[in-house]
Amino acid sequence: MPVICWFRRDLRLADHRALHAAVAASAGEVIPVFIFDDAILHDGYVGAALTGVTLAMLTALDHDLRQLGSRLIVRHGQPLAELQALVRETQASGVYWNRDYLPYAIKRDTAVKLWLRQAGLQAHSFHDSVLVEPEGLKTKGQQKPYLVFGSYVKRWSELAYAQAEQLVPAPTKLVPPDADLSSLPIPSLADLGFELQQTLPTLGEAAAQQRLSQFFDRRRSLSVLKYDDARELPAEAGTSQLSVDLRMGSISIRQCLQRAVDLLTEPLSAEQRQGVDTWIKELAWRDYYTQLIYHNPQMLKQSLDPRYDQIEWRNDPAEFSAWQQGQTGYPIVDAGQRQLNQMAWMHNRVRMISASFLVKDLLIDWRWGERYFMQQLCDADPTANNGGWQWAAGSSGPSAQPYFRIFNPIAQSKKHDPHGTYIRRFVPELANVPNRYIHEPWTMPQTLQEHLGCVIGRDYPAPLVDHGFARERALAAYREALQQP
Ligand code: FAD
Repeated sequence: MPVICWFRRDLRLADHRALHAAVAASAGEVIPVFIFDDAILHDGYVGAALTGVTLAMLTALDHDLRQLGSRLIVRHGQPLAELQALVRETQASGVYWNRDYLPYAIKRDTAVKLWLRQAGLQAHSFHDSVLVEPEGLKTKGQQKPYLVFGSYVKRWSELAYAQAEQLVPAPTKLVPPDADLSSLPIPSLADLGFELQQTLPTLGEAAAQQRLSQFFDRRRSLSVLKYDDARELPAEAGTSQLSVDLRMGSISIRQCLQRAVDLLTEPLSAEQRQGVDTWIKELAWRDYYTQLIYHNPQMLKQSLDPRYDQIEWRNDPAEFSAWQQGQTGYPIVDAGQRQLNQMAWMHNRVRMISASFLVKDLLIDWRWGERYFMQQLCDADPTANNGGWQWAAGSSGPSAQPYFRIFNPIAQSKKHDPHGTYIRRFVPELANVPNRYIHEPWTMPQTLQEHLGCVIGRDYPAPLVDHGFARERALAAYREALQQP
């Protein structure tokens, strides 16, 4: 009897635990299914970039399945109803899927599980998308969820490394679904009502493997071995760029960790070892935020520390729009926002600077920024995104940036883009501005501005706000909110 493998955020064939188990249980008679979920498509939270990524990865997955003699069955609607219909049509004996820890997904999957059990069918869900599951790691004594990243990561390392030894292979052959089993075509973005202005990277399982191999290629000057320093330089390709693959599962998190763990067995200098260790720690942040939201689902709408919801945000729509468009007058912030608007991706350091600028310098509610990132990022992930925004706002408890530590966008720019290479790449108006002025172009003498054809206020905006003033204003707003009962 066939079984259904329900693909969701795991669009690959290799090291796919649900697929592997489904193949074993059915001698390859697996019906691979993806359901466009109306509730997700139409809630306005997910943007064109992530939807575009999903469509490209589904096309690649269908192609890869066809290489094995099978094909992807695509349906559209309410997942439970669609699965019920598919079970009826195929006489499948059960459904296999990898677990998703977001509140909406848990509710959806629980309903599916309940129905399957009541119908006497098999329901099998698997630990797949994270290294350590949210329920798998709690404080030693009280068995409470971790709030502090530093303590979390120590215990995480004890558990996570074992996962690097537990990879499962891709199937080599699949029994094709019946020829008359209907499948909708993979829609275009326009079919789904989206318009994408940004350029997406090449996507699919093969592209993800290539990104991983490149990042671990020791011959490259910017491999993982240099990560510890290079990750702080937005002008360099010093990070893996795998976030889009990890988001929709065109690569497994275990494949990533395995490469890192394998590399650590080779002779490495202390600096190189540090590069690999630091990268593994970034993978831990991903698990950390997943468990934080799993245990505190209200975080998706509120500050984890509720006192931060008392802040009197200014929420100026014109300033928000200037920030969105990369027109704040702060070159590093504008470069970041324009990178996002062009490439659907932004370097992590600049995400931190830009988020801090929106929340602290402009006093705009972190939820506004979070929502904009969700719309624009190709790796948009409610857990990491919400975590990143609440970190910047200081509102996510002990692992957040303390509210009184306010990034200075000029100092950050000088430190992380010392020659203005990143700025010039994304803010062409500033291409000819000398290094001396690139981080604060409004300090250029007027004659030089005229000479360069870069007059502040005409060719490039004057700063939206003075950082020194904005800093004091933010501190006052935060203090007032935190002092309230
Ligand atoms: P690398 O540096 O190569 O890191 C490897 C992987 O570790 C990443 O691909 C990612 O999966 C994970 N990772 C790294 N840093 C973090 C982090 N701080 N939190 C969680 N996971 C991390 N990441 C997303 O995947 N989706 C988001 O929507 C997202 N929104 C963010 C919003 C803000 C305000 C901030 C400050 C950070 C956000 N991040 C988000 C985290 C981080 O910026 C990206 O994961 C990273 O820039 C992706 O680039 P990379 O793949 O080259 O990362």
